[in-house]
Amino acid sequence: MPKTFAYTDVGQVRPTNEDNAAVLPQGVAIVADGMGGYAAGEVASRLLVETVKQVLQATTPPWDEEVLRRAVEEANTAILHEARKSPACEGMGTTATLVDYSDGAIAVWAHVGDSRLYLLRDGELRQITRDHSYVEDLVENGTITKEEARRHPKKNVLTRAVGVEAHVDVDAGRFALQKGDVLLLATDGLTNMVDDATLAQLLEEHPGDPAYAVGAAANDAGGRDNITAVVVMLS
Ligand code: CA
Repeated sequence: MPKTFAYTDVGQVRPTNEDNAAVLPQGVAIVADGMGGYAAGEVASRLLVETVKQVLQATTPPWDEEVLRRAVEEANTAILHEARKSPACEGMGTTATLVDYSDGAIAVWAHVGDSRLYLLRDGELRQITRDHSYVEDLVENGTITKEEARRHPKKNVLTRAVGVEAHVDVDAGRFALQKGDVLLLATDGLTNMVDDATLAQLLEEHPGDPAYAVGAAANDAGGRDNITAVVVMLS
């Protein structure tokens, strides 16, 4: 059985924690980073996690890309519906990063926004998802470097989010798992504060509590945003 670890914390600056995360016993990890005024971000990320859980639990694992996509699309509808009912929630949205490892041999993922799924294999940390953000587009067209993107004033501008428009375009994919693989799901409050090389080192050095190790490092570095990490260690 894979071991799972989760850490979520408000950080050092923000008044509330708008991140949400869940690990389903069947073998799915989810992180969501909500945005919107007052408590709206919290509502959006909670609705994402709850809706994904409901959709998946109504079917049997392992789940394929189509089911994961549909789960995020249903969350999109649920968030829009809630926003229409409550003026305080207008304009809220959330990221969504989820991975199904229930099969043990294949990981299937779905993703919208700038939360991330990473794979740590043989000491190398690879980012599986592509950020849907303004700065990621700048990195891809060569305007700025990855390091400059981490400090860019517009780094919070997303090009895609869940719950904002009637249609959401969900990225999805799969890869084969190997013995000893470690999956990391994280919100930008973690990845903006701790670079990939440090994340890889902390995950390797703290197999007993890897999510806390990376989360505490983001807090120690300033915790400028809510911090969430879910770690799955395949045996
Ligand atoms: Ca965030």
